Amino acid sequence: MSSTDLATRPAGAEAAPAQPCIDLARVECLFTELLVAFGEDPTREGLVGTPRRAAASWASFLSPAPADAACFPEPRLMGQMVLVDGVSVWSKCEHHLLPMHLTVAAAYLPGEEVLGLSKFGRIAQYYAGRLQVQERFTGQVADHLAQAVNSPDIAVHVEGQHLCMSMRGVRMEDARTTTLQARGRFEKDPVLSQQFLAIATRHRAA
Ligand SMILES: [Zn+2]
Repeated sequence: MSSTDLATRPAGAEAAPAQPCIDLARVECLFTELLVAFGEDPTREGLVGTPRRAAASWASFLSPAPADAACFPEPRLMGQMVLVDGVSVWSKCEHHLLPMHLTVAAAYLPGEEVLGLSKFGRIAQYYAGRLQVQERFTGQVADHLAQAVNSPDIAVHVEGQHLCMSMRGVRMEDARTTTLQARGRFEKDPVLSQQFLAIATRHRAA
């Protein structure tokens, strides 16, 4: 990928989606209808404020802060692996509208600039704040990171717990889904790849 491509838009990345236009009043009405369809009485004491709270919660989830990704010059760090792990975000599965908890580790080899460390979490949070599937999320974070750091050498490891799996049956409670995008030298260099994976998975229960 040329730097020109990176400067415009990362390959495979969707254009930064516009903030969703959420009709809060309508969502609230629909939650009331949903309660009725569930056989509930939305006027009973416990449910009186539920449609409003549920609508606000969805609106907040669907409006993540923009993932600005400011870099600063640090040419002496060229080629050193920078890795941030333990980034924890909540998203919602687009197939069941149920939460999924994603733990993200991301690394890159800087060129002449490095990315502010807090930006890793921002990027993850931004792509988590929508209806998602873990595989796409992993690719979007990788695309955004590659663009932000202007380097093809990036790796993103995501471990997900999906409530649509965990809630169904005891045996599924511990199920985890792992996705990995390794690009550039992280794909080609087995030592680098192993180093990344060893750090990205070190928090796993033994
Ligand atoms: Zn699901």
